[in-house]
Amino acid sequence: MLLLNATYEPLTALSARRAIVLLICDKADAVHHNAEGPVVHSAGASIALPSVIRLRNYVRVPYRARVPMTRAALMHRDRYRCAYCGGKAETIDHVIPRSRGGAHSWENCVASCAPCNHRKADKMLSELGWTLRHPMVAPKGPHWRLLSTTADLDPVWLQYLGEGAA
Ligand SMILES: [Zn+2]
Repeated sequence: MLLLNATYEPLTALSARRAIVLLICDKADAVHHNAEGPVVHSAGASIALPSVIRLRNYVRVPYRARVPMTRAALMHRDRYRCAYCGGKAETIDHVIPRSRGGAHSWENCVASCAPCNHRKADKMLSELGWTLRHPMVAPKGPHWRLLSTTADLDPVWLQYLGEGAA
């Protein structure tokens, strides 16, 4: 279940249990109904669980300044494409190898296919004459926070995540 702030800013993924509490206590409203969703019976009421709910009152969220880098979020940034050959990526490569002091960060990691990762090993790009197909930047914005902390995103949520929202 996706929880939106009163401003429709995506906040977090929520368990069904917590969502029910918010709905029953009139703290949130359903935004996106789910016709096939489970119906929960609680305190004499029947609630069809929606896919997306929105808080009635705005909450200030003290966000960490940086979006944590996870495998899923990095793959999403690079769209599952190898930064070196453009093929399907399944590994993470450190552009400046860790053995040479490269950081495990958004600015030094790219998605890579296994063959490129293997060929690159602990070499620098300049030693191989390779170039990057996409920039290594740290993404910003609430939807990235969600992407980097949630394993399974419900496709229904995407319309509320606002790809361009930063
Ligand atoms: Zn490759």
